[in-house]
Amino acid sequence: AQVLKAEFVKSSVSTEDCPCDGLPEFALVGRSNVGKSSLLNSLVRRKRLALTSKKPGKTQCINHFLVNDSWYLVDLPGYGYAAAPLELRMNWDRFTKEYFLNRSTLVSVFLLVDASLPAKKSDLEYASWLGQNQIPMTLIFTKCDKRKKKKNGGKRPEENVLDFQELIRDFFKTLPPWIMTSSVTNQGRDEILLHIAQLRNY
Ligand code: GDP
Repeated sequence: AQVLKAEFVKSSVSTEDCPCDGLPEFALVGRSNVGKSSLLNSLVRRKRLALTSKKPGKTQCINHFLVNDSWYLVDLPGYGYAAAPLELRMNWDRFTKEYFLNRSTLVSVFLLVDASLPAKKSDLEYASWLGQNQIPMTLIFTKCDKRKKKKNGGKRPEENVLDFQELIRDFFKTLPPWIMTSSVTNQGRDEILLHIAQLRNY
């Protein structure tokens, strides 16, 4: 599983507006600052392929990146951006949920969760919504290189990962697959690409 080629294709404002070539896609979603752009760039080994601005409003699009001419990585708006007005946050919610429910070429949602922090309410809500709606998902734990800090609850990434899985257990018949990653050390990069290759071959 190698990325030989990656190119930005399109920003869409709705599911209907997305590419219609039928290629399989994998969507990245997570709280703002979870490390989504870093992971995207590390996956395609490119600095700043994901040039989406951090400002609310600018990221309110579905961004398609075509990989090896055969599948898409999709960058979705981050959630839980505290500075965004409530109305805008509600809108993100509607718009991404509509995409999850209607996008027939979506193979798996990659829910990014910061492993250096204790479980956050917004992440748990997101995971439970995906679970309850039976949307196929993969948990991608980010920042696994970070050491434990007292102010972050004093737990190691491995412990936060176990806690998170325990907290979402009830929303799933079987726990979703999960991968521990770091964009600093590139931990998990090959595992994600292998996972995508396996899902594509089903
Ligand atoms: P986004 O808002 O989800 O796109 O997050 P970014 O990719 O911009 O990352 C947010 C912050 O977390 C930046 O300061 C990154 O340098 C940092 N960061 C991202 N990934 C990692 C990681 O794997 N390990 C560490 N230690 N820091 C990371």
